[in-house]
Amino acid sequence: MSEFHVDIGPQYEGETIRKEDLYVEFGGPKISHKFEWARLKSLDEVEHEKVEIIGPDIKDLEEEGSYPLGILIDVAGAELEPDMEPVIERRMHMYTNYIEGFWHMAQRNDIWVRLSKGSFKKGLDSLKEIGEILIFLYTSEIAAIEKISITFITDEKRVEELLPEALKVYEARDRRALGLKDEDVDEFYCCVLCQSFAPTHTCIVAPSRLANCGAMNWFDCKAAYKLDPEGPIFGFEKGECLDPIKGEYGGADEVVKVKSLGNYDRVYLHSAFEHPHTSCGCFQAICFYIPEVDAFGIIHRDYTGLTPVGIKFSTMAGSTSGGKQVDGFCGLGLELLRSPKFFQADGGRKRLVWLPKDIKERYRETLEADGIYDKIATEEDVNTIDELVEFLERVGHPWLKGEVELPG
Ligand code: SF4
Repeated sequence: MSEFHVDIGPQYEGETIRKEDLYVEFGGPKISHKFEWARLKSLDEVEHEKVEIIGPDIKDLEEEGSYPLGILIDVAGAELEPDMEPVIERRMHMYTNYIEGFWHMAQRNDIWVRLSKGSFKKGLDSLKEIGEILIFLYTSEIAAIEKISITFITDEKRVEELLPEALKVYEARDRRALGLKDEDVDEFYCCVLCQSFAPTHTCIVAPSRLANCGAMNWFDCKAAYKLDPEGPIFGFEKGECLDPIKGEYGGADEVVKVKSLGNYDRVYLHSAFEHPHTSCGCFQAICFYIPEVDAFGIIHRDYTGLTPVGIKFSTMAGSTSGGKQVDGFCGLGLELLRSPKFFQADGGRKRLVWLPKDIKERYRETLEADGIYDKIATEEDVNTIDELVEFLERVGHPWLKGEVELPG
């Protein structure tokens, strides 16, 4: 790989770039407009191996700055199917992290990308080269891709214009999965793509539980397994249902035991207690237990303020991540909020007491259907636990009034 300025390979996965080593970053919490989006096109629509940059390139940017970024991955191939778009998009996480001194976190409209000073000094000063490396990796590893082009958009206005289109596509993918339940299928999926950052983490993806990153639902994992049976996502027989409320299945327990190298041997898909799902570092949000009210809040990656427990997302992410089962703290994909089995063993959405305002609005319809929308506080209502308690008493939250019965 001598044609590139930096080294490439799985040995660089898990490499982090700290503030003092940072040359530039794209996306992340300081930037509101960012996305990555894979699009399946016809063979004549894709100019193979083209890398385009719309806006300033790395060498034109100010050192240590944070910038918007949109990444379009256009692919074509006779064997590719529309279901495979999310799979190809998610591979961006793996391949970008193969690049020495380049770091990628999260997914979709949450991406956060960093380039190190060391790799910039080695000559990696253009998104063109990053695109060429990615095209090399995509075409080497996914035979079904016959043509691929990558566009990096750093022009803020253009990223802002395209973002709503990308959001519509993400939403359509998520909606598709809503009609299916765990009981309707025999096969679940497991993704170990994030084990480079969290070696004991296994995402178990079932129809009623999408992956922590929010980028892979059951249909996406099915397509990923078909596209690359040797890849990081594989299917398995869900096995005997050991607890339908907590969501414990014999097949999932067995997979977790093997893939966590024996660290865990049980997992509940629909409870945050006892044997909760593990969390890597890519989760979109965290569901966190608030002992003072015996209920839950959710905080997402883009919310930079404090929760009523006085902690920010970054601090909470530190103790939740790393592939551990942490009682009462679960990384999750935000669309899980729409799942009919959302932490059903613990009281589900009716036990939610705090959400950032934009998440409360995004899921308004679902929360209203549960009669809980007006009962949930946001940062506009409360700042502390005392204020939260006062708010919940004032609105008559059904969980605090003892009106929510736990199933089973
Ligand atoms: Fe895979 Fe889970 Fe990581 Fe998403 S969060 S890439 S599903 S391991």
